[in-house]
Amino acid sequence: MAETLHYRTATELGRDLESGAVSSEEIVRALIERTRAVEDTVGAFLSCDEDDALARARESDERRARGERRGPLDGIPVGIKDILAVEGQPLTCASRMLANFVSPYDATAIRKLKATGAVPWGRLNMDEFAMGSSTENSSVKITANPWNPECIPGGSSGGSAACVAAGEAPLSLGSDTGGSIRQPAALCGVVGMKPTYGLVSRYGLVAFASSLDQIGPFARTVEDAALLLQAVAGHDDRDSTSFKTEIPDYRRELSQRRGPWKLGIPKEYFGEGVDPEVEKAVRAAIEFYRSEGCEIVDVSLPHTEYAIGVYYIIATAEASSNLARYDGVRYTHRSKEAADAIDLYFKSRAEGFGPEVKRRIILGTYVLSSGYYDAYYLKAQKARTLIRKDFLDACRKVDAILTPTTPAPAFRKGEKADDPLRMYLNDIFTSSGNLAGIPGISIPCGFSESGLPIGLQILGRPFEEAELLAIAHRFEQAHDYHTRHPDLT
Ligand code: GLN
Repeated sequence: MAETLHYRTATELGRDLESGAVSSEEIVRALIERTRAVEDTVGAFLSCDEDDALARARESDERRARGERRGPLDGIPVGIKDILAVEGQPLTCASRMLANFVSPYDATAIRKLKATGAVPWGRLNMDEFAMGSSTENSSVKITANPWNPECIPGGSSGGSAACVAAGEAPLSLGSDTGGSIRQPAALCGVVGMKPTYGLVSRYGLVAFASSLDQIGPFARTVEDAALLLQAVAGHDDRDSTSFKTEIPDYRRELSQRRGPWKLGIPKEYFGEGVDPEVEKAVRAAIEFYRSEGCEIVDVSLPHTEYAIGVYYIIATAEASSNLARYDGVRYTHRSKEAADAIDLYFKSRAEGFGPEVKRRIILGTYVLSSGYYDAYYLKAQKARTLIRKDFLDACRKVDAILTPTTPAPAFRKGEKADDPLRMYLNDIFTSSGNLAGIPGISIPCGFSESGLPIGLQILGRPFEEAELLAIAHRFEQAHDYHTRHPDLT
C-alpha cells in the first residue's frame, strides 16, 4: 500500500487506521517521503516540523491502541497555510516582515483540529499576507501548479491547493478573502470551500480584510472537505463575528440531501471574458444536473459588475488598517539602519513589506482618507449591500447558484505578475461571494485540452454549507475528475 498511500483520501485513510491496515506514523512517513520526492518541483511548503508531526502521529496510534478515537480525523495530517497560528511553529504569511515570528498560541481552528486528533502538517506557501492570486507575491518562492509546473497554482492559498493535488497531504486549511481557497482549488483540480462569514472562527488567523476573511478546507473529495469543515466550524467567544448556529453533521447530510435541486445560472458569469473551454466544462456540469432532474433557471446578479472594484476598495481599506500593527517595534522585522523612532517605522515597513502589500496599503489609505472616504469607501459599502441583496434575492428562488470558479485555467508564471489589474480580474467570480458573506465551494469539473483543471463554483444561502456539499457530492459521484492525479514522476 505504501506507494499509493499519499493519494488515499482522508476518508480512506480513516478506514485504514480503523482496520489496522496502517498507522498514523506510517501515513506521516509516507507523506515525508512523498514530499521529499516532489517538493523540488511543487514547492508548496515554506517549512515543515516533521518531528512534531511524527510525535503527534505516534500519540494518535497510542490512543487507538488503548481503544480511544477522537473522531474521523484522528491521526490524519492536515497541511496549514502559513497564515494560521500553530503554537510553537513559524507564522510568516510568506512575508519578510514576519520571517522570524513563531506563534505563541493556537488559532481556534487549529485548537479544534488538534482536539480531533488531526496532525498539523507543515506551513504552506501563499501570497504575502494573502494578497494575490498566484503565490507569485510570496517573499520566499513561487509554488508550481502540479498539473504543469510552468503554471501558477493560483492564490493566495496556492501551497494549500498544490500540496493536496500533489499528494503531499490529504487535506489542508486555507483562507479566502476574495477567492483564495476556491480559485487555487479550481486551478489545481481539488475541492475548496469558503464557508459562510462567521462559521469558522478567525481567532489566530492573521487579518487581511476582517469583514471578508474566512478559513476553509481543501481536499481531494467533497466528503473529505466535509470532514475538515466539521472539525473547524462553530462559535467561538474569541471572535465576535463568529456566529451561534447549530453545526449539522456534514458527512451524514451528504447522503440525506438528495435534491432534486433548483439551480440558478447567472448570465453575468458567462460569455465575454470567459475562456471557451471553461464555459464548455461548466455548461456540461449544468447539463449533468439537469439530467439528474434538477430544475435549471436563469437568475440575475446585476451588481456583479461592480464586485471587483468594490472588493479592491474594501479589502485594501481594511488591510491598510490591519497591517498598521507591523511597526518594527514589536514582533516584526526591525530595520537596523534607523536613526530615530519615525525612521524605524518607515524603514522597517519599507524593508519588510513586498510591492503588492505596499500597493494595497497605499490604495487602502487613500480610499479611507478624509477627502476620498465618501467617494470611494462609503460608496463601495453601499454597492456591497446591493451585491449581497442580489445574492439573497436570487437564493430565495433557487437552492444554489452555479458559475465557473475562474474565468480561465491556470496561467503561466510571470504572465500577469507585472499587471495588477489583470491579476485582480482573476477574482471576478469569487470576490462577490465574500462581499455577500455567503458560502461557496469549487469542485473539479473538467480539464482543458492542455491538461489543466477547470473548477465549478457552487454558491448558496448563508449557513447552507450542507446543501452545497451535497450538491457538489452528487456531481463528484458521477464523474472521475477527483480520481485523476498529476504526473510528477
Ligand atoms: N486574489 C485576491 C486578492 O488578491 C483574494 C485574496 C484572498 O482571498 N486572500 O486580494
